Amino acid sequence: MNNINSNDEKELKEFDENHVWHPYTSLNSPIPTYHVVSAEGCLLRLDDGRELIDGMSSWWACCHGYGNQHLIDCITDQLNKLSHVMFAGFRHDPATVLCKRLTSMLPEGLDYVFLADSGSVAVEIALKMAIQYQSAKHPERTRFLTVRGGYHGDTMAAMSVTDPGSGFSSEYQSYIPKQYFIERPAISFHDEWNDSAIEPLALYLKEHHQETAAFILEPVMQGAGGMYFYHPQYLVKARELCDRYDIVMICDEIATGFGRTGKMFACNHAGIVPDIMTLGKGLTGGMMTLSAVAVTAKIRDGISASPAKVLMHGPTFMANPLACAAANGSLDLLLSGDVCARTVHIEKLLYDGLKELTACKRVVKDVRSLGACGVVELNRPVDTVRMQKFFVDRGVWLRPFGNIIYIYPPFIISDEQLEACMKAVRELVHILDRDGEY
Ligand code: PMP
Repeated sequence: MNNINSNDEKELKEFDENHVWHPYTSLNSPIPTYHVVSAEGCLLRLDDGRELIDGMSSWWACCHGYGNQHLIDCITDQLNKLSHVMFAGFRHDPATVLCKRLTSMLPEGLDYVFLADSGSVAVEIALKMAIQYQSAKHPERTRFLTVRGGYHGDTMAAMSVTDPGSGFSSEYQSYIPKQYFIERPAISFHDEWNDSAIEPLALYLKEHHQETAAFILEPVMQGAGGMYFYHPQYLVKARELCDRYDIVMICDEIATGFGRTGKMFACNHAGIVPDIMTLGKGLTGGMMTLSAVAVTAKIRDGISASPAKVLMHGPTFMANPLACAAANGSLDLLLSGDVCARTVHIEKLLYDGLKELTACKRVVKDVRSLGACGVVELNRPVDTVRMQKFFVDRGVWLRPFGNIIYIYPPFIISDEQLEACMKAVRELVHILDRDGEY
């Protein structure tokens, strides 16, 4: 693999275009891809020598950037000892230590951890747990409730609780189970709270709690459904209502966990403890795929009281030692520095650097930032492929979707690198505003 000559390169490019699926694409009319060969710090290096500043954290996972020596050492050390072993009948320290550390960091009470392989699978498991919890007490409660604008993954059940309007699940509606959707939390993060914002949830639960197993949502920051930040008080009120009706509250922290929103977990903004929390992405600092589902004693006991008595889930790569070693390394990095101070600093830089775009009223609907996430919401969708090229030509890696241009950088991004990302976004929005063309 190290000695690829230019003929091979051409052949590989062609093969990739014709045979290898990339996310959300067609093989019959493939979208152009850029050939990345290595990455270090906050820079992605292309085969032609160009370096791009990463403003995406590789779909929000590589929070410590690339090639971090501590993470490499943790994985290499583990590789030399035990790269994989089945988790049924065995225990190993990378997993036990990781779960012990997670339970001491998570909101109090989330003391029991299931390790899985990806974010979507963690969501599937969380939904299964909720059904099983209810099966002992209220077996008729088999539906899920969620808010519009949410995203929880691409597997079948995860898609069923993802906003059907977002396009991720529209093709599969005939197959996926029908769930309940209420309007997304109406009050945004920085606005003043008003109790009327909880009414849709209160009304829904009053009428439908007998059919509803769980309420699932992304706490505070909705990601792929539109990068929307809502008021933490919504979670406080939702917690109260879920308690009142014995509805399992699932907070999906796959995108928000580990400091991204300016708190270690987004639930900390509200000071609430969900019954089930899902984690992924930054869990391993983006080095390996791993996810976790943490639950309270209530869920543990509920599952034990169900007819099956055990949680019927056991993925082949559950608790993969290399992934657990990476996650332990990532926790070392997160806990050794003040990661939340860093992401709050990034939040301010992002807002200060992007807020002038609110003046471009023709094209810009809103500018906002929370933690290490800055968003310019446009009035209309953009062409992702064209925008991507625009940014690559300016030496930054950003990938807008729908009407959202956003910056979601590794926490290690320097202030200058962040400014380079924002400069490119400002230039693009000014061009759109001037030409009125997307
Ligand atoms: N939940 C949330 C909130 C996510 O943002 C994502 C991924 N974008 C997922 C679940 C699915 O995770 P994965 O892609 O690892 O399956």
